[in-house]
Amino acid sequence: MFDTIIIGAGPTGLTAAIYATRRMMKTLLISKNVGGQIIWTSDIENYPGIKLIRGPQLAVSMQEQAKSFGVEMRTAEVTKIEKQADGNFMIHAGQEKFLSKTVIIAMGLSSRPLDLPGEKELVGRGISYCANCDGQFFRGKVVAVVGGGNAALDAAEVMSKIASKVYLIYRGSQFKAFEILIARVKERKNIDIMMNSNITELTGKEKLTAIKATSGQEVKELAVDGLFVEIGHQTQTDLVAGLVERDAKGQITIDLSGKTSLAGMFAAGDVTQTEFKQIVIGCGQGAVAALSAYKYLQGKK
Ligand SMILES: Cc1cc2nc3c(=O)[nH]c(=O)nc-3n(C[C@H](O)[C@H](O)[C@H](O)COP(=O)(O)OP(=O)(O)OC[C@H]3O[C@@H](n4cnc5c(N)ncnc54)[C@H](O)[C@@H]3O)c2cc1C
Repeated sequence: MFDTIIIGAGPTGLTAAIYATRRMMKTLLISKNVGGQIIWTSDIENYPGIKLIRGPQLAVSMQEQAKSFGVEMRTAEVTKIEKQADGNFMIHAGQEKFLSKTVIIAMGLSSRPLDLPGEKELVGRGISYCANCDGQFFRGKVVAVVGGGNAALDAAEVMSKIASKVYLIYRGSQFKAFEILIARVKERKNIDIMMNSNITELTGKEKLTAIKATSGQEVKELAVDGLFVEIGHQTQTDLVAGLVERDAKGQITIDLSGKTSLAGMFAAGDVTQTEFKQIVIGCGQGAVAALSAYKYLQGKK
């Protein structure tokens, strides 16, 4: 029986783990990966006290800190949460089940997919949601990047230095990115920019071989080895559907102490209705959720 189980090891969950373990709570942190969105972030320049740090480096440092206070960690996806009659929670992760008195949801955001047939099957076989993580696998190859925001333009620029050619495909007529980034992308000779263009089809069984994209009235077939989908992030909270209140975007509704509508369940960070999704905000909320869970347990005693 754990005092708390934290779901998600992004900066929010890792901070919650640091605070919970320092209150001597028996804490389990279950996550699909360690670091969450910050493992895709190259340079972080707004974490107070640290002028510049790479995202993965900050994740490792937070993990080491949490471990030093005694958190137990599992790499797995939580697939089911059951609230039991006695008020405790049964958490299903992979083949295992864990019992806990409280739960802290810190599941953050996940990459928004294109929702095209074959997309799921081709993930890791040509399709990626992270140029910073997977870009190196496409050295000298032809790739496409889809999206028109900072992440997409950054991915296109990064890939233009690794791949032989990059198609940058965006459905809009004007990029929604920093001017400096747009200028850098336009300077790169091997980036072919396709505005007002939508990807309509993915081809490939074992691996991605081509995509179809609209170009005005035409549909072009482009032979590509890789496709980087950089069209933003979304909340995925089906796991707690029916357990807690969520807003129209599926974000978990919390109060100032991180409480959800279900007793014993707390939430923090990007997964909540918080308007500003930032590391330091997630960390603050993670700390609040852990201290609230502690207070909840004290109240029960
Ligand atoms: C490219 C990029 C650059 C950014 N740059 C900055 C920046 O410079 N400064 C800044 O302050 N913010 C930045 N951000 C935002 C910042 O990364 C987020 O606000 C922060 O990571 C949110 O932390 P989180 O822990 O709430 O969620 P996340 O980081 O999304 O972590 C959620 C974790 O939960 C896990 N998870 C989800 N569902 C499950 C499940 N069912 N079972 C188990 N585990 C699960 C995920 O695998 C992940 O590990 C950036 C974001 C991106 C994408």
